[in-house]
Amino acid sequence: MLHLAAGMSRLGTETAFEVLARAEALSREGRDIINLGIGQPDFKTPPHIVEAATKALHDGHHGYTPSPGILPLREAVAADIRKYRGVEVSPERIVVVPGGKVTMFFAILMFGESGAEILYPNPGFPIYESVINFTGAKAIPIPLVEEKDFSFDADTVLNLITERTRLVILNSPANPTGGAVPKQEIDKLVAGLAKRPDVAILSDEIYSRIVYDGHPHTSLLAYPELADQLIMLDGWSKTYAMTGWRLGYAVWPAAIADKAARLSVNCHSCVNAATQFAGIAALEGPQDQVDEMVRAFDKRREVIVSGLNGLPGVTCRNPGGAFYAFPNITGTGMDARTLQNNLLEEVGIATVAGTSFGAFGEGYLRFSYANSVENIQLSLDRLATFFR
Ligand code: PLP
Repeated sequence: MLHLAAGMSRLGTETAFEVLARAEALSREGRDIINLGIGQPDFKTPPHIVEAATKALHDGHHGYTPSPGILPLREAVAADIRKYRGVEVSPERIVVVPGGKVTMFFAILMFGESGAEILYPNPGFPIYESVINFTGAKAIPIPLVEEKDFSFDADTVLNLITERTRLVILNSPANPTGGAVPKQEIDKLVAGLAKRPDVAILSDEIYSRIVYDGHPHTSLLAYPELADQLIMLDGWSKTYAMTGWRLGYAVWPAAIADKAARLSVNCHSCVNAATQFAGIAALEGPQDQVDEMVRAFDKRREVIVSGLNGLPGVTCRNPGGAFYAFPNITGTGMDARTLQNNLLEEVGIATVAGTSFGAFGEGYLRFSYANSVENIQLSLDRLATFFR
C-alpha cells in the first residue's frame, strides 16, 4: 500500500472532462451525442496564429525560454491590457504560464495552508474549491444566487472576510453561470477590499472579451488601490479558441511576481516556445475573428435561453458573458446529477450538473452553447420531447 500525502484525498476534479470522456465513448458506440458539456469554443484558432507558431518552429525556436515568458510576449500582453483595460502594467509583473488554470493553482498554493481561509464563488469553477482543499486551507463559499443573475453581492463577500482570510477569488464573467458582475457592485467591493491590504485577490477574467448587450467588462486591474494585492488571471484559451495550446498569463503584485516565476521554474520551466510566438500573433494581429465568434455566441445565447425557458419545469436567466446557460431545473422534479445522466444516456445531450460546480449548484444544469445553432435547436427539440 502506497502512502499518498493527505492532500491527495482532498483533491477534487473537473467533471466536465468526465462528461466529455463519457460522451466520446457513447459516440464511438455509434450514439448521436450533442456536446453542450465542455467549456471550449467550437471555433478553430485563427490561421494567422497557427502560422506564427509553425514559423517559430521553422525559425528554430526549440529551446527553453525565460521562465515568466519571452519579453516580446509580455510586452504584447502589457499593450493588450493598455488597449482593453486602459491600464499601464510593467511586463515584469506579467507571468506567462501553460493555461489559465496554472495561475489559479499557483495563487492558491501561495496563500493556502492549514488555518488560512480562502473565499471562492459557489457555484464556480470547480478547481478553486478543489485546490483550496488540497492545500489544507478552509474553503469559504461566496454564494452566487439566481435572484441576482448570479452576480455576487459586495456586502456578502466583505462580511465573509475574517482575520484568517488570505485570498478572495472572484470570477466575472463567470463559469458556470455566465453571470457578469455590474460595475457598481465591483466599486463597492473594491472599496472594502482596499481596507484589507493583507488579503490577496485572484480575479479570474478569462472570459473578459466574451460579454454581451454592450456591457463592457470591468477589470479589477482598473483599480490602482488594489495593485499590491491583486492577481489578475487571463489567457488565450477562450478569446482566441486556443484551449489546447495551453497558454495563459497573470498580472501579479510587483512584490510577488518573482514568487510566481519561481513556482514556474519548479513546475514547468516555461511555456513551450512556439506557443508563445502564437500568443504574440493573437494579441497583435487582427481581432475580427474574436468579434465574429462573440457575435455567434450572442446569437446562440438567444436561441438557447428562449428555448430553455419554453421547456416545462425549466427557467433560465439571460447570461451577461461567457458561453454558458445555467437554467433552474427544480421544476422538472429531478436533481441535477440525475438529469445530467438521463440527458446524456437517454437523450444524447451532454451537459454538466450544477453540483459539479459546488453544493450551491444543486437545482441547476450547465449548458455550454459553444455549439452550432442547428445543434442547439436539435437539443431543444429533443429536450421538449423528453420533458413531455
Ligand atoms: N477560469 C475559468 C473560470 C474557466 O472556466 C476556465 C476553463 O474552463 C479556466 C479558468 C481555465 O482556462 P485554461 O483552459 O486556459 O486553463
